[in-house]
Amino acid sequence: MFKSLRWRLTFWFVLLTTIVYTLSAVFAIWLFRVEMTRVMDEELHALVDELRPAIALKDKVPNLQEWAKTARQVPFKFLPTIQIYDLQGRLIEQHGPSGVPILFSSVKEVRAEDYHIRVCSAPLLDGKQLAGYLQLQLSLRNRERAIAQFGITMGLIFPFLLLALAIAGYVFAGKAASPVEESFVVLRRFMTDAGHELSTPISIIQANAEAMEVEIPESVRENNRLAVITRSTERMANLVKDLMLLSKMESPQIYSNKIPLDFEKLVRGVVEEFQELFKAKSITLSTKRVGPATVVGDAELLKRLVTNLLQNALRYTESSGTVEIGVESLGRNTRLTVSDTGVGIPPESLQSIFERFYRVDKSRSRNQGGAGLGLSIVKAIVDAHRGRIDVYSQVGTGSTFTVTLPTRI
Ligand code: ADP
Repeated sequence: MFKSLRWRLTFWFVLLTTIVYTLSAVFAIWLFRVEMTRVMDEELHALVDELRPAIALKDKVPNLQEWAKTARQVPFKFLPTIQIYDLQGRLIEQHGPSGVPILFSSVKEVRAEDYHIRVCSAPLLDGKQLAGYLQLQLSLRNRERAIAQFGITMGLIFPFLLLALAIAGYVFAGKAASPVEESFVVLRRFMTDAGHELSTPISIIQANAEAMEVEIPESVRENNRLAVITRSTERMANLVKDLMLLSKMESPQIYSNKIPLDFEKLVRGVVEEFQELFKAKSITLSTKRVGPATVVGDAELLKRLVTNLLQNALRYTESSGTVEIGVESLGRNTRLTVSDTGVGIPPESLQSIFERFYRVDKSRSRNQGGAGLGLSIVKAIVDAHRGRIDVYSQVGTGSTFTVTLPTRI
């Protein structure tokens, strides 16, 4: 239980950190992109401011000859493409890496099959008159490469970070769970000790009440006070036994008694014990679908599992109803089904029936001798065998409990 709690805590911790890391990485990449674009735009605008005064407007046609004389000496590798357009939008001059003829009025990003650029355009004025346009184009290849590199780095760091977090999470989860684990051990010990202490006086009362009952004439035996004491003591003894079993089920040693078992034989044995009880209530108990099957488990616990399911079927099925038990081998698993044509379970109770002391109809269950522990014991046994239990039920029609248990360890 605590091992699984520790793993569960670690799992949630790792999952949460993965989500936080992924979101942070996406945000960081987005921020990096925005910041890089801002810096590029700043540079583009600075260059526009630098270029505009250097453009000669001879005969109202702008040209870059003056500027180009010095600019050509600058390596063009990191420079944008500089373009001059006339008033009609015709490209009249171009410097720098090969650009594309596009005319824009403000900064814009343009992506096509063979280019991905940032474009910045500005009007060229002759006095107050518009004489043409200056346009800068900057390839975004470097920005994209830097972003991809950043993303790859974050992705490469992630597995190592995850491993470190999983180890740290496992260690801390263990530390966090240990006080809870200790209190459970104390509680379990208390339950076992209290159970042992209670069972001795209960057995003494039971034995004495039974002995006294024998001395009473048979005709009045059913309704006398001693009979009430005997029945109540028996209920109390069963309750103590059930609580002790549940407490034992939580101990890790319970996993050690598992051996391969002939499950068909085990089920037939339990059915045999129940035949008379079913007959007495005029309920048909059918074993039509019981076939050969193996289960790796604890014989006593598995017997208890089948007993509790059959006991419930008997309790909650009216006379002349039918109960069918099935055992089926499914390769790696064995399936046990117990179906009845009984009162059924309301849908809102289906989630709770495996909880301790939960009863759908308290008075009915108590009258039948149930304390609401039967199915929680079944669930604990199923969990101890790493199996699963499903229930399908319809009020007024009946219920089917399906237990799937592994055939191997
Ligand atoms: P109980 O000792 O009261 O039978 P269980 O834990 O075995 O306690 O079952 C919990 C409750 O689930 C029962 O009180 C009963 O209402 C319901 N229940 C269990 N099995 C059946 C069944 N086969 N048909 C109808 N109701 C059932």
